[in-house]
Amino acid sequence: MGKVGFGLAVSCAAATCAIAAILVGKRVRSRRKWRRVVGVLRDLEEACETSVGRLRQVVDAMAVEMHAGLASEGGSKLKMLLTFVDKLPNGYSLLKLLVLLVGGFMFSLVCSFPGPSQYLLACSYLLCLWFRFSDLWSYPFDELSNGSERGKYYALDLGGTNFRVLRIQLGGKRSSILSCDVERQPIPQDLMTSTSEDLFDFIASSLKQFVEREAQNSEFSPVKRREFGFTFSFPVKQTSVSSGILIKWTKGFSVKDMVGKDVSECLQHAMTRNGLDMRVAVLVNDTVGTLALGHYNDPDTVAAVIIGTGTNACYLERTDAIIKCQGLLTTSGGMVVNMEWGNFWSSHLPRTSYDIDLDGDSPNPNDQKMISGMYLGDIVRRVILRMSQESDIFGPVSSRLSMPFILSTPSMADMHADESPELMEVARILKEDLQIPDVPLKVRKLVVKVCDVVTRRAARLAAAGIVGILKKIGRDGSGGVASGRSRGSDGKMRRTVVAMDGSLYTRYTMFKEYLHEALCEILGEEVAQYVILKVTEDGSGIGAALLAASHSSHSSSSSSSSSSSSSVVDSQRLP
Ligand code: ADP
Ligand code: MG
Repeated sequence: MGKVGFGLAVSCAAATCAIAAILVGKRVRSRRKWRRVVGVLRDLEEACETSVGRLRQVVDAMAVEMHAGLASEGGSKLKMLLTFVDKLPNGYSLLKLLVLLVGGFMFSLVCSFPGPSQYLLACSYLLCLWFRFSDLWSYPFDELSNGSERGKYYALDLGGTNFRVLRIQLGGKRSSILSCDVERQPIPQDLMTSTSEDLFDFIASSLKQFVEREAQNSEFSPVKRREFGFTFSFPVKQTSVSSGILIKWTKGFSVKDMVGKDVSECLQHAMTRNGLDMRVAVLVNDTVGTLALGHYNDPDTVAAVIIGTGTNACYLERTDAIIKCQGLLTTSGGMVVNMEWGNFWSSHLPRTSYDIDLDGDSPNPNDQKMISGMYLGDIVRRVILRMSQESDIFGPVSSRLSMPFILSTPSMADMHADESPELMEVARILKEDLQIPDVPLKVRKLVVKVCDVVTRRAARLAAAGIVGILKKIGRDGSGGVASGRSRGSDGKMRRTVVAMDGSLYTRYTMFKEYLHEALCEILGEEVAQYVILKVTEDGSGIGAALLAASHSSHSSSSSSSSSSSSSVVDSQRLP
């Protein structure tokens, strides 16, 4: 080999080594970046950890905070607001009365009692037995209203995302909602931060249009003033069952001149401005409406939980447990308490830096962000942004990633549910929503994992909240002071129903599955089988209309076609 050949061989070898070194370097760098991104995911997983042990700590903290919130005003971050709803629609009492009378007859036959007085005696005896052994002693509300309301009742439902106007027609027998018309529309974004006049004019004019459409194509006679239930799902300090003061806004609303004002009064003024003659019969929030419908359909319903744009819960409490209002009298001995559980705080909550940043950027700090539909998508966006800043696996950092709320929770749910081998839905959403095109498959898988971690934590915390309520009312099967309430007089576990609504729960399949799984883990299989979560769709509105019927100021309804016999219940004021 000549000198030239040798030189050529050396240069070739050197070039090969250089190329190999570049390739290896590139690989090492890309591995390092991948490791950094995986590190972001690991940190997220660790920070979102919700072992059953931790969830039980959250359950205990929730029950303690509930006690504190009931003990004194401001005693806890949980506001535990009184709703003045002490009667829930329930059509079972007529049925039970019937059972009692027939039972009394059979009993007197069996015992060969001859006359009517003996028959009455037998009925009384059965009544005593029933009172002694039924759940009536251990829990209020089982026997409340008669379900005999008839006619048309309306409701307005102002949630966090949607606004609904609806009308139900009651037939006067149990579970006889003859018809229900609902009209939905999104709340215009600009109204969420405008003035109370603008917001309430929008609500009043929507209601007016709805009522006018009905008047055009029906036999409606405008003799009686229509009454409706107003579902207003923000923290309100009730002053009666039909009025209350707005404490603060949540879920991105910020109509500053409203805070401290009476919500019903604002609406009543707006209706007058719009030439609409209607009366707010009840002012409730979505949880109370949902509980009302849940209880109407199933009297074992003791609580309601909403997981939609925001999250909240209410439950039936005994008045003697509401220490901050000692002396409060209700005919039933109980009252629905609106927990405002979005405010719940405990050091056991698994909080991440993303939650802290999100809270810092929000006009409503310390509020329901780990669970609500409004925020989950944005937590995922923040994690992807961090990953994208740590490495170039998403390409150059998309400016869209810095835009708050650009990734919605429904889009996040769609990515989570993508089961296609190439995760094409994930690719589509990253491209269309976040303007991140051509993301490799392994990175798409990473995104799905992020959605999974964020949703799993949310669902498991919601489950812990539900068990917290059950623990407070002695329905969690644990051997506490109130454990007797978990079991009936025969020692068997009692059915406990929780009415559920909100699109995050009803439409996000993985969320629902994770929630149920955690409920079983915390309660144990044996107890969990007696806890039933029942979807009560549109309960917030329909329940408010049912409550409007039972709190109607006139015994006949606004319907011309049907005579009404709705029960009259005076709203009670706090002493
Ligand atoms: P509102 O809170 O206004 O009463 P919803 O209960 O319907 O209304 O909740 C709406 C919220 O639920 C939306 O803001 C969104 O975050 C979430 N959501 C709606 N659809 C889905 C879905 N398919 N998957 C996950 N979340 C959803
Ligand atoms: Mg709602």
